[in-house]
Amino acid sequence: MKCCNTARKLVQALLFPEACVLCDQWVVNTELSPLCYRCLNSLDPVSPPICEICGIPVPGDVLGRFPMCSSCRAGDAEFDQARAWGLYEGDLRRVIREFKFRSRRRLAVPLAGLLGQCFQSFEHTFEYILPVPSHRDRIRSRGFDQIRVLAKLLSREAGVPIFDGLSRIKNTKPQFGLPSRERSRNVKGAFQLKEPGLVENRKILILDDIITTGATVQEISSVLRSKAGPRWIGVLSVARAAHRYPL
Ligand SMILES: [Zn+2]
Ligand SMILES: [Zn+2]
Repeated sequence: MKCCNTARKLVQALLFPEACVLCDQWVVNTELSPLCYRCLNSLDPVSPPICEICGIPVPGDVLGRFPMCSSCRAGDAEFDQARAWGLYEGDLRRVIREFKFRSRRRLAVPLAGLLGQCFQSFEHTFEYILPVPSHRDRIRSRGFDQIRVLAKLLSREAGVPIFDGLSRIKNTKPQFGLPSRERSRNVKGAFQLKEPGLVENRKILILDDIITTGATVQEISSVLRSKAGPRWIGVLSVARAAHRYPL
């Protein structure tokens, strides 16, 4: 059976080869396609020192066991800890943009693999994965819900169910186009929690593809805290901005 599968994939790769989105070489491994192993392995993860709470890179002279950015030191974070696999720049940015904006859906597999690696860095076990919900109009225009696709793959690998009780009731403007200070206002009141009982006293992992200022996950965390009282909130994303300001 396994042999059959391998033969089928080989035939598929020969008949419908895809070029790697980064180096343009033909990709033979259909599991990872359209990103070749060499390019996947050359992507750079976030390197320390990072803020212990929000995961943003902090200057090298911030030492000690618990480095924190100024915002987290001021107690601004509504979540307990956020981690991203890499920074939203260079090749990782190109891969995410191909996945998200050009509907190269099969890039979900390698990107979910990166999420799976980063997932291991939490010292907590989670009871639910909560993919940041997209508005139905956005899903329709993009053709798929990219965060949910990633969440399904991570859920399967980590054995943690998806929480479906949060919906997006406002089709907000894309956060990317907005100045930093307007982003919190843009997502205010955008989410509705339908099943607070399921979240109460649970450890929840909010999943996003890219975190820029963190305004969206801050708003979701705030909704969870005020309506349901979760025990611990983690945030995981494929990439995050190196700064809190527009990219
Ligand atoms: Zn490549
Ligand atoms: Zn921080």
